[in-house]
Amino acid sequence: MMKLAFAATVALCVLVTPTCSAEITAVASFSILGDLVHQVGGDRVTVKTIVGPDGDAHAYQITPTDAADVARADIFFVNGLGFEGWMDRLVESTGFQGELVVVSRGVPTHETTEEDFGDDHNLEERDPHAWQSLLNGVLYVRNIERALCKVDAPGCRQYSANAAAYIKELEALDAQIKYQISTISPEKRTVITTHDAFAYFGDAYEVTFLAPEGVSTDVEASAADVARFIEQIVTQGVTAIFVENMSDPRLIQQIASETGATIGGELYADALSGPSGPAPTYIELFKHNVRALFGTAETEWSGIAAQGF
Ligand SMILES: [Zn+2]
Repeated sequence: MMKLAFAATVALCVLVTPTCSAEITAVASFSILGDLVHQVGGDRVTVKTIVGPDGDAHAYQITPTDAADVARADIFFVNGLGFEGWMDRLVESTGFQGELVVVSRGVPTHETTEEDFGDDHNLEERDPHAWQSLLNGVLYVRNIERALCKVDAPGCRQYSANAAAYIKELEALDAQIKYQISTISPEKRTVITTHDAFAYFGDAYEVTFLAPEGVSTDVEASAADVARFIEQIVTQGVTAIFVENMSDPRLIQQIASETGATIGGELYADALSGPSGPAPTYIELFKHNVRALFGTAETEWSGIAAQGF
C-alpha cells in the first residue's frame, strides 16, 4: 500500500507538478559551475560537484566515487577550454552515455600570450577562467538552460524562468561592479595574484592582474620568472597582493616579503568557499572579490543597487 501510494505520488509529481523535486541527476566539474547548474535546475535537478569548495580543478585526480557519479548521471557539465584536463579520461573510463555539455561554448576567449606567462608556457593555450566575467556567466547560464531543456523537456519552462531571473541578477551585479570600479583611479587597479585566473575579470572590469604562475596551477613558476616578476612589482610600485583560496600561498608570501608589499586578502579564483565561508555562491564570490580588492562594504552594494545599478 505504502509502495503504491509512493509510486502514485511520484507519477503525479512528474505529470502535474512542475516544481517537484529531482527529475534529473547532473554532475558539474567544479564548484562554481555546480552553483550555476543549481540556479537554473532548481529542485528538479540534483547536482553533484566533482571538485568541491576550495578545491583546485587543475590538479584534480579522478576518484572512484566521482567516476560512479558520472556513470550514473543524465548530464555532465564541464567548463571546457582545457580547464578539466582529466575530463576525457573520466568520460571514457566511466562509459558515460548522457549529455556532455561544455558551458563556455560561445564565450569570447582570452588567448594567452608570452607576455602573460613567460617562456615556459604553451602559447597555444587558451585561458579557461571565463567565469570571471559575469557576462560570460550569463552565457554559461544560457548554455545550461538549453542543455537542461534538451534532456528534460517537461521542465523547460521552469529552467527558462529560473535562468531569466538569475540572469537579471547577474547583469545587475555586473553593472554594479563596473560602476564601483570606475570610481577607483586607474593607477590603483593593478593587482598581484598567485596564478593567472583573472584575465577575464581584468578585461571586463578594467583591472590589471599580474601573476607569477600561468593559467594552470600545475605549472610552477621558474626562479627567473619570479625574479622578473618581483622586479616588475617594484618598478610599477604595486602594493596590492592577494592569495587565492585554492592555490598554495607560499610563492605569494615570498614575493610579498621580498617586495615589502602586504597581502591584502584572499580572492576566490577557481572554486567557491564552503557554505559558511565568504563566497558560497557565484554571486557571493564576485561580491567578496570586489570587496577584497577595493574595500567595498556590503552596505555599499545595496546603496548602489538603490541607485538603479
Ligand atoms: Zn585556474
